[in-house]
Amino acid sequence: MQVLFGGTFDPVHDGHIMMVKSLVRTFPNATVHVIPNHEPPHRACLASSEHRLAMLKAAMDGMFQTVVNAIELDRSGPSYTVDTLRAFREQFGTGESLVLCLGADAAGAVDQWYRPELLAELSHLCILNRADQRVEIPHILSTYRCTDHLCEMSEIGSGLLAFLNTPDVPVSSTGVRELIAKDEHVLPVPPEIAEYIRQHRLYQDTE
Ligand code: ATP
Repeated sequence: MQVLFGGTFDPVHDGHIMMVKSLVRTFPNATVHVIPNHEPPHRACLASSEHRLAMLKAAMDGMFQTVVNAIELDRSGPSYTVDTLRAFREQFGTGESLVLCLGADAAGAVDQWYRPELLAELSHLCILNRADQRVEIPHILSTYRCTDHLCEMSEIGSGLLAFLNTPDVPVSSTGVRELIAKDEHVLPVPPEIAEYIRQHRLYQDTE
């Protein structure tokens, strides 16, 4: 079973780390792939891919069942989730359970993605509900079958949709960048990431 958790991680912060730990607990027989996006189609990243990858690797170092997967950085051009899922299918085979994890905000906007109608045949979908924040499931995802039992996802390869309630850690990368711009020294990131940001003078010019 392979669990995919993507994002810009610009930079990685305590909320991401809490989320990865929650995924490892929820899917004890899976590998959790933390996947930095290359060029997200809807936004510009502020730190280079190399910096974002280095910070993510440092933050996930030694974390049980977790790998930082640079698959999207190794591809040129934008990061389309269906391409990533197809690559996972090729690598792990048709029977492997693939679980795509999305924050509720991202799931609500999925109809603006490239070929979202293909998602259900490629993977399961686990929508992360921070502090019970509910989202209207876009119609394009209606080919998924909803279940209350996340454990069902290990039994078949794709096609199930479930919600996972996760605690609210009120932190965002935008917030971290704003704190850096205000010259705050206490950041909601692991100490080694704060040190990396300082050493490389990242996000200094962000407003
Ligand atoms: P930005 O503020 O730059 O938009 P972000 O903090 O939302 O960034 P992303 O890299 O866009 O971080 O998020 C990657 C994934 O992590 C998404 O699925 C997002 O929903 C989730 N995520 C982000 N912040 C948190 C948090 N505080 N707690 C749990 N999950 C989070």
